[in-house]
Amino acid sequence: MIIVMKSSVLPDSEEVRGVVRLAESYPDVHTEVSAIQGATRSLTEVYLIGATGTISEEQFEEFAGVERVIRIRERYRSIGRHEGQAEALGFEYNGLNFSQDSFHLFPGLCAVDTRENVEAMFRALEEHGIETTRAGAYKPRTSPYDFQGRGSECLPYLFELAGKYGIKVISMEVLTAGQIEDVDLALEEAGRPTGVMLQIGTRNAQNFELLKEVGSQKEYPVLFKRGMGITLEESLNAVEYVASSGNHKIIFGLRGMKTNLGDPHRNFVDFAHVPVIKRLTRLPVCIDPSHSVGKREVSPDGLLDIFHVTAQGVVAGANMVIVDFHPNPGEALCDGPQALLIPELEHFIRDAQLVRSTYEERLKLRERFAR
Ligand code: PEP
Ligand code: MN
Repeated sequence: MIIVMKSSVLPDSEEVRGVVRLAESYPDVHTEVSAIQGATRSLTEVYLIGATGTISEEQFEEFAGVERVIRIRERYRSIGRHEGQAEALGFEYNGLNFSQDSFHLFPGLCAVDTRENVEAMFRALEEHGIETTRAGAYKPRTSPYDFQGRGSECLPYLFELAGKYGIKVISMEVLTAGQIEDVDLALEEAGRPTGVMLQIGTRNAQNFELLKEVGSQKEYPVLFKRGMGITLEESLNAVEYVASSGNHKIIFGLRGMKTNLGDPHRNFVDFAHVPVIKRLTRLPVCIDPSHSVGKREVSPDGLLDIFHVTAQGVVAGANMVIVDFHPNPGEALCDGPQALLIPELEHFIRDAQLVRSTYEERLKLRERFAR
């Protein structure tokens, strides 16, 4: 059960304490108080956890500070969009807003390799007004003999260059709790010239201990990439670990599903799930066309498959696109064959923006026909 407080009611107010006291007077019920940053307003929610089946809604509705009481059927109670819950779960990070209405492109390196390539990438992003990127320092590789990422040693120059070129957020995968600390320490030592979004890769989608670690720190937002071989329901329950550990700054990422039924693409593109995630949860949705398609094939109309699937996700309302670029893909130590080239950056940005404006037009059209 969720008790949604009126927007003027703060988490440490007497009204909230009254709700908590009443809830905890029931045996086997405990509570969590959560400050929610919605897209348009912030509010406080009290979660009742445990044996809530026989508790009636009415006694909570009588509190002056309570806006609404929601009974939850789904198991992912804090990320879920439950009946009557219109508020999306947006958040601010390093001056940028992320919600189910926002739109950000994160073009960048799959993996950091050299300082020169990082600088070439960031310079191109700055030239095109992009302040958000991806850059992997820790890479989860299928074989132990493959390049494992530069690790913590590349962080000082990565963050320094991010500051130099006006990058505000770098999406970066972490595989262990220790790596979260290393990122934090390196950012601190660099004077926090940029921000980091902690990426949970598809291979760690059910690494529950790691999910609890990224969830119990509240500084960095989390990009959770859907598990490639589990159901959507299982991924939603997994990402709930992040929220239930205390961090609500979460973006849900789609990156394709592992199955030969998606051949010749690397993964079966799952961007039809963009509106599904927006309906089932209150989280912003990211698409990763690079890891979905996995190659630079061109269709007869002259557009790369990567451009086409990006368009498919964006026209359906995706809020974020994470996409691999590399200044010299032939030299890339990870995922070179799927990297877009720096001279393709402007075309990619314009194509994605064109499709985003089409999505916005579709919303206007819907409004016209709803009247
Ligand atoms: C990545 O984004 O670098 C990555 C490894 O993606 P995924 O976890 O989706 O395979
Ligand atoms: Mn990759």
